Amino acid sequence: MDRVLKSYTLHNFLTIPQITSLSKEMVKDIEVVGRVLPFKTNNYVVDELIDWDNLDTDPIFTLNFPRRGMLEKKHYTTVERLLNEHTGDNRELNEKIQQIRLSLNPNPAGQEHNVPYLGEIKLKGIQHKYPETVLFFPSQGQTCHAYCTFCFRWPQFSGMNELKFAMKEADLLLKYLRLHTEVTDVLFTGGDPMIMNASTLEAYIKPLLEPEFDHIRTIRIGTKSLAYWPYRYLSDKDSDDIIRLFELVNRSGKNLSLQAHFNHPRELSTEAVGQAIARIRSTGSQIRTQSPLLRNINDKPELWAKMWRKQVDLGCIPYYMFIARDTGSKHYFELPLEKCWQIFRRAYRQVSGLCRTVRGPSMSDHAGKIQVLGVQEVKGEKIFVLRFIQGRNPKWVDIPFFAEYEPRATWFNQLKPAFGEEKFFFEEQRTKLEATKPFLFE
Ligand SMILES: *Cc1c(COP(=O)(O)O)cnc(C)c1O
Ligand code: SF4
Repeated sequence: MDRVLKSYTLHNFLTIPQITSLSKEMVKDIEVVGRVLPFKTNNYVVDELIDWDNLDTDPIFTLNFPRRGMLEKKHYTTVERLLNEHTGDNRELNEKIQQIRLSLNPNPAGQEHNVPYLGEIKLKGIQHKYPETVLFFPSQGQTCHAYCTFCFRWPQFSGMNELKFAMKEADLLLKYLRLHTEVTDVLFTGGDPMIMNASTLEAYIKPLLEPEFDHIRTIRIGTKSLAYWPYRYLSDKDSDDIIRLFELVNRSGKNLSLQAHFNHPRELSTEAVGQAIARIRSTGSQIRTQSPLLRNINDKPELWAKMWRKQVDLGCIPYYMFIARDTGSKHYFELPLEKCWQIFRRAYRQVSGLCRTVRGPSMSDHAGKIQVLGVQEVKGEKIFVLRFIQGRNPKWVDIPFFAEYEPRATWFNQLKPAFGEEKFFFEEQRTKLEATKPFLFE
């Protein structure tokens, strides 16, 4: 089936045919909360993913549509009042909205610290945190086919330009990669790079296939397009060009790996997504999957087991389960660390070894990706067992370490070292690393 993308935002969502299923309150909530958190959905999500008969709890509706609880009460009331008093002069409203956004921790985990330099030039479109992988944010890829209400990259699409990691010139990226031969992976991310047309994407990717970039072994693309717009690979004008570009990368001897975001098994259930995955796989590309664990969307072990199984069925490789970041509407989605671990292990133990390529639950902290290995009791003291999957210093990786048990903790910064220790083993080094320019080891 051929489909043409139709986007719905705050300005036209009332034209969604199914919108009559919403109560007056829900419409108002979208209008109020949608002023602060970015809101966009599309005809595929609306027609093929959302269950309009069960809106109160529908996970896909929650994934795209603002709900009242996503804003703190005081913020909700402020925006609601200003909208009611609205006189045509938007200045106060816009200022207030900007203030609320800034109070929601728009760039968590010190992402600024990952931005490297080329001499004195700050490379705003690059993050380089782990030696082997460089993240690149092409400026044309800083939007998505729909927006997730939990997204931590939301300043990218809220017109907060000073926070926007984006860079037009692939030139600087190539210069940087020539100097950094330790880099094996370039990860295109956003937003969603697959929003770009095939020729723009090709302009970024093709130069990397030249012999001087032999050290780059894998080109990765982080994308939610398979979940939000699988027609990207089937019937968009330039779908065939995308497929040919993927083939070209794989034929050049490098790997093309999609880091596909799926938050719920329903996103894997349509005919279109199955066809899109098959078409991408036919190019020799691999698809690895990841998702945060989100209350109100996927906080059941059965959902994760189902999702991983379905991914393996379709030829994808389960990769990461993340813990929801401290940003935006986090209070609506967050779960205590212990609960995250319980959900992970209850899902993990139900699935075959082929699904157990997944790692998690993991927090992308300033220091690295910290996995919650579990809760344990040692000589009467209840503790969290943790380890780095990725560390700002690679030497930290895979060393188990311990934090005091804290039942309410939802993030690493709420944990203290166990057994009366003053500091975690990496803390002194981390402080030193933070004082240096980004990306200098030892
Ligand atoms: C996760 C992540 C990567 C990639 O790490 P892999 O474990 O190789 O997938 C790279 N950079 C940052 C900042 C990350 O968070
Ligand atoms: S697709 Fe990714 S970048 Fe886009 S809104 Fe969702 S989480 Fe954010």
